[in-house]
Amino acid sequence: MTSKILVIDDEPLLEYVIRQLFRHQISAQEFEFDFAINGVQALDKLQANSSFDLVLTDISMPEMDGLTLLEKLPAIDPTLKAVVISAYGDMPNIRTAMNRGAFDFLTKPIDFDDLKITINKTLEFVRFAREKEQQLVTANRQIHYQAFYDEITGFPNRNFLLKQMRSGMNSIRESGQLEAILFLTINRYQIVKYSLGHARAEQLLVEVARRLEAGNLNANLVARVGEDAFAIWLINITNSQLALDVAESIRQALEMPSNLNGTAVFSSVSIGIALDGIGTKDPEDLLRAADAARYEAVVRGAGSAVVFNVDMQSRALEQLQLETDLQNAINLQQFYLNYQPIVSCATGQLIGFEALARWRHPSRGLVSPSEFIPVAERTGLIVALGEWVLSEAVACLSKWHLQFPDYLSLNMSVNLSGIQLFSPNLLPLLDSLLQGYNLRGECLKLEITESVLMENAEAAGVLKSLKNRRVKICLDDFGTGYSNLSYLQLLPIDTLKIDRSFVCCMEEMGKNLALVGAILNIANSLELEAIAEGVETQEQLIMLRSLGCNSYQGYFFSRPLDEEKAVALLRAISPDRVTFASEHIT
Ligand code: C2E
Ligand code: MG
Ligand code: MG
Repeated sequence: MTSKILVIDDEPLLEYVIRQLFRHQISAQEFEFDFAINGVQALDKLQANSSFDLVLTDISMPEMDGLTLLEKLPAIDPTLKAVVISAYGDMPNIRTAMNRGAFDFLTKPIDFDDLKITINKTLEFVRFAREKEQQLVTANRQIHYQAFYDEITGFPNRNFLLKQMRSGMNSIRESGQLEAILFLTINRYQIVKYSLGHARAEQLLVEVARRLEAGNLNANLVARVGEDAFAIWLINITNSQLALDVAESIRQALEMPSNLNGTAVFSSVSIGIALDGIGTKDPEDLLRAADAARYEAVVRGAGSAVVFNVDMQSRALEQLQLETDLQNAINLQQFYLNYQPIVSCATGQLIGFEALARWRHPSRGLVSPSEFIPVAERTGLIVALGEWVLSEAVACLSKWHLQFPDYLSLNMSVNLSGIQLFSPNLLPLLDSLLQGYNLRGECLKLEITESVLMENAEAAGVLKSLKNRRVKICLDDFGTGYSNLSYLQLLPIDTLKIDRSFVCCMEEMGKNLALVGAILNIANSLELEAIAEGVETQEQLIMLRSLGCNSYQGYFFSRPLDEEKAVALLRAISPDRVTFASEHIT
């Protein structure tokens, strides 16, 4: 690399000497010289062209001397160094020059060798200083990037968004515009992460980011603000309908499934919207409000967009608290299982139990699984919780088999969340439980909801591995999803469980009766066993029996029981005893 040196002297001698000296040298290619006759001219050249590496300057010159020039150099380039050339014996000037930052000095008449050594030494120092500075700039840039950008999507992060919102807040308000935040989360992100792995989950994030970018949302900024969360900042909004329109555009942009290495994944999102004007003082409040509305959207179901209102804030806080409490609940052993009997419709014989998780919250009392299971799924805690449920239920069944030898074919149904189904731990855990308790696979039935099986093509593989262990599979809440019957036929399923929304009011509502009949026909033609859940009356049972339903569970026979009561029931009725409601047992 050529080094650029500016030589400043009012006498032409120095220029002449340098031109002579470097004329024949090979090293001449390494140096490029420029010349000025005083400080003023030198300053012009330095300011016009910032690529100089070294200044060689005389001291006494007209208009601006070398000492004055020295003072001005740091402002032009702090890494540029000057070597002063002074008449021999000019000691006070040399002292001043050094104090003003000169790197070295040479005396006239010039010693050529000394000149070369000094030039090389000074250039080396300059190079070193510039490298250091460059490293610092790069490190600074990296730190800035890490602090304000997300590495996976390249989008700005939460900090950057808040910083921009803060700095834009006043001017937006003065201009009479309204700002809004759309906070969105990817509904099935946890399932994708656990079923397809982190790498594909990241791919999904990038794909969502790309579509948001291409979606023409007219956004001021789109940021990634959480693991599966993005925020869209709009500043030209006049009413909430406009924000809802943007939410609709987002929904459309994400409608088509993403192709993640050959696997099609739907990435529907839940969107919360908060508009300025809700009394927020800090942008963080607006973001939090949008997040609270997003909680509401999650609860309302896939694909919803909800505009914030004040009631949502406290609900969102409760949710957050619930998440925190749930984290501790497993360690604090706040969970226990209830067991709901499952009986044959035809004979009333007790054939099994469904294990249902219960959470005894220290201050709230019993929390319903309908409340905590979705939270556990969203936070990924369902994996640990589900493993505990499975272990506990298997241990209990094995205990009952030993205690009640007549009930050796008694089976246990355990609910399995979608995320659990794809957890790499599931099969090893199952194997160790079946072996450890010496339990036959067919005594265990795993209940999986319809939507999980229908929306995840990889489910078929896991089901096959479960079937290899002879474990039974039950499609829970059947009828509430959108089963593709030809696909259903391909899955190794044993049982359809008719959702209780169809069973309830069967006797009053002709439509429900017809639906239950239709579901039983499907079960029949696919040669699947059918269980009805939520049977509360004798009429329902009689109808189900006449329609050919195999078994049922519900308050009519028994509510879910704690272990002690379940044992009492097993003790009270023998396996071949025909009975239709447990309260009839004396
Ligand atoms: P599910 O698997 O469909 O369980 C049946 C639900 O219906 C249970 O509610 C049960 O108590 C209730 N039920 C039973 N008979 C009747 C009846 O006659 N009338 C009425 N109205 N309800 C009846 P629960 O225990 O509140 O559980 C709700 C849901 O939470 C379960 O629905 C299941 O999806 C989920 N869940 C419960 N435990 C677990 C678990 O350990 N793991 C997973 N992944 N999910 C669980
Ligand atoms: Mg169930
Ligand atoms: Mg169910």
